[in-house]
Amino acid sequence: MDLLVVTGGLEAIEVAGRKNPVLALLDAEMGDVSGYEAARAIKHADESCRIVLLLGGRVTARQMRMVSECGCDEVLITPTAPDPLYDVVATQLKLPRRASQRHPVDLAVRGQIGQRAVRGRITNLSVDGARLLLNERIDEVGSLWMEVHPEGEPPLAVEGRVVWAKRREQGSAVGASFDGVAPQTRRQLARLARWDVIQGAERTRVVLRAGLSEQNRLGDIIPDLFGKIDFDMSQVTYMDSMGVADWVEFLDRVPIRDYEFHSCSVAFALQASLVEEVLGGGVVVSFFAPYACQACDHREERLLQTAAVLTSGGRRPPVFSCSRCDGSLVLADLPERYFAFLRTTRVA
Ligand SMILES: [Zn+2]
Repeated sequence: MDLLVVTGGLEAIEVAGRKNPVLALLDAEMGDVSGYEAARAIKHADESCRIVLLLGGRVTARQMRMVSECGCDEVLITPTAPDPLYDVVATQLKLPRRASQRHPVDLAVRGQIGQRAVRGRITNLSVDGARLLLNERIDEVGSLWMEVHPEGEPPLAVEGRVVWAKRREQGSAVGASFDGVAPQTRRQLARLARWDVIQGAERTRVVLRAGLSEQNRLGDIIPDLFGKIDFDMSQVTYMDSMGVADWVEFLDRVPIRDYEFHSCSVAFALQASLVEEVLGGGVVVSFFAPYACQACDHREERLLQTAAVLTSGGRRPPVFSCSRCDGSLVLADLPERYFAFLRTTRVA
């Protein structure tokens, strides 16, 4: 699959006209020409091009109108994890979905839209809304009542409204917005969407998922935290600047002093290098680093132990052997730059 990356709406229209892509992924809020306008122009020129529009956060009624008018085929609410994005693109291109990889928010739902009973699953969940794949075709926009069925947990009832619906060959893709849900429900939604707290005998493990953005409302997690905490950061796929601010505030407020970071993702490590407060008073035990093969250019992320890196003063990162060839897999960054976030950490 060939990927073309452009930096704005005008360029998107121009490149689409020249290259006839099978699919265009457009940010709704671009500087020069909005995603809505770009979608309309691209569709007008080539009806067969599938268009996925990325919308941030809460969707207003005005945006909804623009979505339905611009002729896009699918909408995805950001921030989103790679899995729902893959799911959406694969569905549009009629490619198989990654069935073996169960996404943490792949939740069964059943409920009612207006008078109609529905069944399906959630593929993208936030505290403000969800993206659903329903087994029936839905056109009407209306109130939504649904029961989310997390595996091995009691069902959770949520009320909301349908803000957009797109027909599929079988069933519909639907965007739902949750307004004014009870604080308890909101907390459960946030937990399902973004984190897991696993109480152990000695320490509590907190798994954070997907992107860290202001929508995480990490404050909601605080009542569950006490004692010694291990943060599992391996699934933090990105952090935006609001997410960093929210995260730092969370660490400031959380009434724990003894905490460690395990398996920090590259996204988290990069932010920790830029903003010292990202690590708060915590200790980094292990983290992923970008590696590249010197022979075949194969790239992968390797998990490094902080203690091992610090013994060499951070100057000699470990070298691995490539999983594709016999070449050496070396750190794909300057050690003093990538390991900068370790400057404040002590060995656990
Ligand atoms: Zn190689």
